[in-house]
Amino acid sequence: MAESLLLTEARSAQGEKVDVRLAAGRIAELAAHLAPRDGEEVTDLAGRLLLPAPAEPHAHLDKAFSAAEVPNPTGDLPGAVAAWREHRRTLRPDVLAERARAAAHAGLARGATAIRSHVDVHPDIGLAAVDALLALRAELSDALDLQLCAMAYPLAGPAGAANRRLVAAALDRGVDLVGGAPHIGGDDPHAETQACLELARAAGRGVDLHTDEHLRTTCDLRILARLAHGFPHPVTASHCVSLGGLPEQVQREVAGETAAAGVAVICCPQTNLYLQGREHPVGMPRALTALRVLERAGVLVAAGGDNTQDPFNPIGRGDPLETAALLVAAGHLAPDPAYDYVSNRARAAMGLEAVALRPGAPAELLAIAAGSVREAIATCTEDRIAIHRGRVVASTRVLRQLAPLPGDEP
Ligand SMILES: [Zn+2]
Repeated sequence: MAESLLLTEARSAQGEKVDVRLAAGRIAELAAHLAPRDGEEVTDLAGRLLLPAPAEPHAHLDKAFSAAEVPNPTGDLPGAVAAWREHRRTLRPDVLAERARAAAHAGLARGATAIRSHVDVHPDIGLAAVDALLALRAELSDALDLQLCAMAYPLAGPAGAANRRLVAAALDRGVDLVGGAPHIGGDDPHAETQACLELARAAGRGVDLHTDEHLRTTCDLRILARLAHGFPHPVTASHCVSLGGLPEQVQREVAGETAAAGVAVICCPQTNLYLQGREHPVGMPRALTALRVLERAGVLVAAGGDNTQDPFNPIGRGDPLETAALLVAAGHLAPDPAYDYVSNRARAAMGLEAVALRPGAPAELLAIAAGSVREAIATCTEDRIAIHRGRVVASTRVLRQLAPLPGDEP
């Protein structure tokens, strides 16, 4: 492996031309012009915009690309859960592994050099999905940082005993976090949340819970914030859909408790725009969380793609820029903050160091054929080069050819 990599002819988000030298997984130096050293590897970025790499803080690699095989007849969350459970019992580990690899590659090609994937744990599948994703993590260890979160429910009481044993075994094998879904795990979200935190505490790991993925008036995020106060490991609440529909005063109270507990929130616009709101033919809610109220309270809010062509979302391509585009259209964020939601904020929620175009920063970068962050989100061009630990790990070129058109010069 070359000791350093020189990126030439990059463009910063401020529009300046910049050459960047990467060494030892970090940005070593930047200048308008840097001369290549003897034997140094050089990649000409040909004017591409150079950005902090996106990160995917909420994926389900074990479910990806199953949409054709596993239709969701009702299009809502209960329909997706029922369809997936039925399919999961018969899912072959080699098929799961192949789809998960394709999904990880898709994310990486779009620039996501860090991915957090939830992975199902249940007596019907045992640890087969966990083992497949642990193997994938090892296979891709030079290309991306893959975090795994064991997702099981119920976890509390006698009904959760088998799942608790499996989750503990998954953590023993090297899974990073404990997950769950208190709003569908049983009739006691408090006990469910507590069981999840206890498992994580015993293993010395963090938690990432599917929280309030519905439009009812209940809000388990408040329960999580109270139980997680003082918890010694990172805690994340994914989705938090119902919070977005609660009265603003309640939103502010919950956001304050969430901030005080240091719980991060991950919004998943695409899946929740798809799954939620079907019972509202008029004035359909957008089913995003209360982005602004959470932010104003000081909560770390990021965004993820969630599902990629499975019963929970038949579309999706594992592209953080698609998530950013939805934050602009459905969440009314400006393009630059929207990109931050899917890059540095996502990294922060995953416990990863921030990236900036400055010496010493981690060399986790995306070069994309666009003139600005706004244009990158607008076009979502596939023309991208992903850099992880100072090395090009994925590269896609786009060649567009139009037939001669009337008015073209001969
Ligand atoms: Zn999810």
